[in-house]
Amino acid sequence: MSNRKSDVEVFDVAVVGGGASGCATAYNLAMAGASVVVLERHDLNTEASGRNAGSLHGQIQHEPFLEEGEEWARAWIPALRFLADSLEIWDGLSDELGTDLEVAKRGGILVADDPAQLPAIERKVAIENSAGIDSRMLSASEIRELAPWLTTDAVGGELCPIEGKANPLLVAPAFAQRATDRGAVLRAGSPVEGFREEGGLHYLRTPRGEVAARTVVLAGGDGMPALARHFGIDLPISSGAVQVSVTERMEPMVSHLVYYAGGKLTFKQAKAGTLLIGGGWPARQNAAGEWVVNPESLRANLAMAVRIAPSIADISLLRTWVGIGNGTPDHSPIIGAVPGRPRVILGFYPYMGFTAAPLMGRVLTDLVLERDPGRDLTPFAPDRF
Ligand SMILES: Cc1cc2nc3c(=O)[nH]c(=O)nc-3n(C[C@H](O)[C@H](O)[C@H](O)COP(=O)(O)OP(=O)(O)OC[C@H]3O[C@@H](n4cnc5c(N)ncnc54)[C@H](O)[C@@H]3O)c2cc1C
Repeated sequence: MSNRKSDVEVFDVAVVGGGASGCATAYNLAMAGASVVVLERHDLNTEASGRNAGSLHGQIQHEPFLEEGEEWARAWIPALRFLADSLEIWDGLSDELGTDLEVAKRGGILVADDPAQLPAIERKVAIENSAGIDSRMLSASEIRELAPWLTTDAVGGELCPIEGKANPLLVAPAFAQRATDRGAVLRAGSPVEGFREEGGLHYLRTPRGEVAARTVVLAGGDGMPALARHFGIDLPISSGAVQVSVTERMEPMVSHLVYYAGGKLTFKQAKAGTLLIGGGWPARQNAAGEWVVNPESLRANLAMAVRIAPSIADISLLRTWVGIGNGTPDHSPIIGAVPGRPRVILGFYPYMGFTAAPLMGRVLTDLVLERDPGRDLTPFAPDRF
């Protein structure tokens, strides 16, 4: 329950951002008995959390591994462990939230179709194993046994059994529903445009008026740099529009999350039977400056998918959409209080924040409630850049 200070509602915590991270945080806080308001500038789950490809990642991504190298990968292990620990929460999340989130964790396969791709995968697997991640190399016959639909050009690859998929349209709304069941207040259409501090309270200004809270959690995704700037902190969060496509329904064929070692490609078959095809191909801007589907990216993305899974060539594409993906220079999350402002807490996981959201919600809740989050957050410090 909130109370009032003159005509302003006062909450224990104001969460800015109604994506998966913000809603998971509101849920955990409400379960712990805190009074919570979520302020979302659009509608819930309308940005990255509702537009992503639904992959549940648990391995070092091959593309940054090739680009950034082994030293980067070793330094990135705390962020990898964060994903792995979040993946464990995903196992029981549908039951916990009382909604079928279409979670299936049948593993991820990274497919190589050129023997020259294998040594890098082997080095990557060694680093994953050193971090306690369950992954292993697959021979050509093993990978084709797991995925008989694969191109006969497949020469082997990697299996990471902890990976999978979930339905991004369902996750943030399910967290939000359970949060409101426990008394949290959700305010859509409430862009936070300013902050002030008075008498130990933070006042958040929106066009619909102010709300006050003892603690502020910023879980604003693409809006994080602008939000953090109000507190004098510059976050080097990059922003790039990428696209994802969905096909018509097919007979069950692909049970794994599939990656390709030769380029930007991920795909998986959703519970509905549709194939979600992505991999981070860039969208383009139209004359009005809006992000729209880039047909060249689409062609290249689909050609790659057909190369790996030749039998999908005749399947129709239903829709391609664009979402804004966000990164950090070291690919690690930003988690912790704004320096000098212990009651303003930041939560942002780059590139794979859908996978990370269940744990992000718990860790941010621990920080708000001054509980031990059970992990070293130093590698994620907001002032490390
Ligand atoms: C196309 C695409 C595919 C992806 N695929 C995957 C994938 O398969 N697996 C995976 O793990 N990750 C994937 N990601 C990344 C993942 O979607 C994001 O990392 C994750 O959703 C981030 O969640 P969030 O809640 O932190 O941010 P968001 O979902 O962006 O939510 C932040 C919210 O804050 C709101 N907000 C911002 N500023 C303000 C303000 N001033 N006032 C009020 N509200 C504000 C925004 O409107 C937004 O709703 C993908 C991303 C994209 C774009």
